Order: sequence, then structure tokens, then C-alpha cells
Amino acid sequence: MNFPNGASVSKGEHTPYRGRLAPSPTGHLHLGHVQTFWIASQRAILAEGELLLRCDDLDFARCREEFVTGFVEDLEWLNIRWLPPMVRQRDRIALYRHALEHLHAGGYIYPCDRSRRDVLNAAGAPHEGPGGEDDEPIYPPAFRPDPAAPLTPLGDSIWQNWRFRVPDGAQLTFEDGNLGRQCATAGRDFGDFVVWRKDGLPSYQLASVVDDALLGITEVVRGADLVRSTFRQLLLFKALNRCEPRFFHCPLVLDDQGNRLAKRHEALSLRTLRSAGATREGLLARFDAALRR
Ligand code: GLU
Repeated sequence: MNFPNGASVSKGEHTPYRGRLAPSPTGHLHLGHVQTFWIASQRAILAEGELLLRCDDLDFARCREEFVTGFVEDLEWLNIRWLPPMVRQRDRIALYRHALEHLHAGGYIYPCDRSRRDVLNAAGAPHEGPGGEDDEPIYPPAFRPDPAAPLTPLGDSIWQNWRFRVPDGAQLTFEDGNLGRQCATAGRDFGDFVVWRKDGLPSYQLASVVDDALLGITEVVRGADLVRSTFRQLLLFKALNRCEPRFFHCPLVLDDQGNRLAKRHEALSLRTLRSAGATREGLLARFDAALRR
């Protein structure tokens, strides 16, 4: 498979390539996930590297074991190979907690008891984008604690949300393997984001960065809906003194109305398509075409 924009995959003269697939078992895989995982697997093969499978199962209310079994079956049907064992985020909470302590000691985070509604209602809280999963309203700077106030100890405060204080005005850039140069300004394009939730679990942003760092991931391949998250994650890599991986954001698959696929698009889940007679070859040709557009 060719990659657009002349995107090459380094064959690991220095660090061997290591990628990962990171499904969330909150529903069956739809065409968008499958396309991303296929591209991720092809990039790992091209680089003669490794591919890990990480199960993003921290959302205890929505994750179900049947969806874990489901994505493993789907990946096997697609003939996507990964290096076992599968990494489960719910087994790694102590590692995320350790990273939280590091962020706390460095003064990067603060506890936040504002509700989502408070933030939405805050005068002038602008929205961070076109309203995808990756978007949240910009956290109003007026809600931040006074930086001169003593740091709240983590201790019992673990049962509340903790936010990362973004460096307002900082220009962030990265060279995306698919989309080219990406730029954002902290505090304008995205605001202070949650790293720890009041249910005692890390946010996706923190867990993903800790795993990508500790598992030695050299390239993150994921959907273009997560570009904005990448900027947040760049700040976390830096705060945790970790090298950031490279990034390759894949084209999104849209439904007939031009909307992004969600897990509610059962009709476009791989298993529905499979039972309607879709073939692996047919799907792969479609992914190839999407990458060439
Ligand atoms: N589990 C995330 C998702 O399904 C993937 C995030 C990532 O690849 O970093 O959207």
C-alpha cells in the first residue's frame, strides 16, 4: 500500500518501529476503526517493526467483554497480526497514578470541581472545534486556581477531576506522517484538559501518553478526529520528560450523509458488513482508495 504525501516509514536504523492498535471495547468496530487498524498494520509491516494491541478499557460503564472478543475476532478476520499479549489499560492504573504524581510534583495540574455544565454556561466559553469526540469547551481561565495558592495535595483529592494547565499562547507543531505540518495554539485551540477523573481513573489523554511512552511506541497511527488530542498529548509527553512518538492520522470514514461514523452506525460495523457478505479484499480496496484521495 502506498501512503500519500510521500510518507515513508523509516526501517528502524535507530529505534525499531513499534506501533499499536488501540480499540475501545464500547461497541463493535466500524469501518473507520478497521481502516485505521489496517493502515497501522501496513505501516508496521513496511517498517519491519512490531505492532502491539492495547485495549482502552478504562470506561468501566461502557466497556464490555463481548466487544473485546469482538474486536479480536474482527482483527483476525482481517488478518491483522500483533505481538501478544494484549495490553489492558485497566491493569495499569498504578502506572497512570505514578504519572499523575509526577505531573502534580511538577505543578502542571490542579483539582477542578466545576461541572461540564458550569464550563458550558461560562460566559464566552468558546467551543474547541466542529464538535467531535475530541472536542470540549475551552476551560475558562477564570476557573483556574490562583497560581500563587498552595498546591492541593493529591491524597484524598484523587476523587476529583484534575486538569492540566496549558501554557497559554504556546505554539505547538508536529509533522504528521499523513496530514503534513499541524499547528495549534494552547489556550486558544484547546484549553486546560482533564488528566484524572473523579471516579479515580485517568483520562484517555493521560493513559494513552503513559502507555505510548512506557511501551516504546515510535509511531501512533489513529483517526484524524484525534489531531486535537495530539496537541494535548504533546504537552503531556513534555511534562513527563518523555520523547514523543511520530504521528500518522488516518482519513475518517464518513456515512452517506457525510457524518463521521460512530459506534451507533451498526450498519457499518464490520460484523454487519461481514454477515452481509463483505469480503476482506473488497474492504481493503476501499481503504486503499481512501488513502489515495
Ligand atoms: N481508544 C481510542 C479510540 O478508540 C484510540 C485512541 C488512540 O489511538 O490514541 O478512539
